[in-house]
Amino acid sequence: MTIKRVTGILLIIITSGWTNESLPSAKLLEYCNVFRQIQVDVRDCVISPDSATRAFQENMKNLRAVFARDSCRSIDSTYFVFPVRCYLPAESIGGRGRGYRPDGFDLFDMEVKGSHPAHDIFIRDKDKDQIDDRTWKPVDILAFTSGVVLAVEKDWQYDSDRRGGNWIWIYDPCLDGLFYYAHNNVVEVQPGQWVNAGDKIAEMGRSGYNAYKKRSPTHLHLMFLKLTPEGLPEPQNTYDWMMMAAVKE
Ligand SMILES: [Zn+2]
Repeated sequence: MTIKRVTGILLIIITSGWTNESLPSAKLLEYCNVFRQIQVDVRDCVISPDSATRAFQENMKNLRAVFARDSCRSIDSTYFVFPVRCYLPAESIGGRGRGYRPDGFDLFDMEVKGSHPAHDIFIRDKDKDQIDDRTWKPVDILAFTSGVVLAVEKDWQYDSDRRGGNWIWIYDPCLDGLFYYAHNNVVEVQPGQWVNAGDKIAEMGRSGYNAYKKRSPTHLHLMFLKLTPEGLPEPQNTYDWMMMAAVKE
């Protein structure tokens, strides 16, 4: 047995028992990995919708158990921070909220197409260089609510046909639901990391098969999936929450 291997085993033993709040536990990281793997398997069509559903439910049940929800605060306007810095909801949410079309959505079936259970939030970027035309700076994506980062994609390539680009999944244990932030340029968070509402998690971009095309205006695609008591994800409209959210300068 090499020294490296012994050190590795020791490290695993130490980190499994770690309860320091600032570091994610080994258990939490494992659930994050499972969450990502299910998405990947669905995308690559190597798992049936039924198996994916069951694996997802089991994993969400485990995740729920990690968080004590008795410390949750009430859900009012102070709970939310608008996810695009320095933009007003009324000026930036696509179609004044009419872009939300949940019918037919199925997280576990790649064959189902045509729904858009999300809102697109647009910035001023006429030349589509991912730089704000007013400030000449990148636009920060902020956590809409507090939660734990479950999975991220950071390595989308411009010739990839994957549609979400560089995305982030965050689980909010108090809302008991999942937020999906897509088309980012730079992702600045890691799986297992806790973020508070208003924390910077990314910079807006044009990543993703369709979002990268010249005809597409630069935007954030924000989806929220509320979990049923059985741990199944169902789209929920976040329009009212966004309209009452605080705008961060
Ligand atoms: Zn969208």
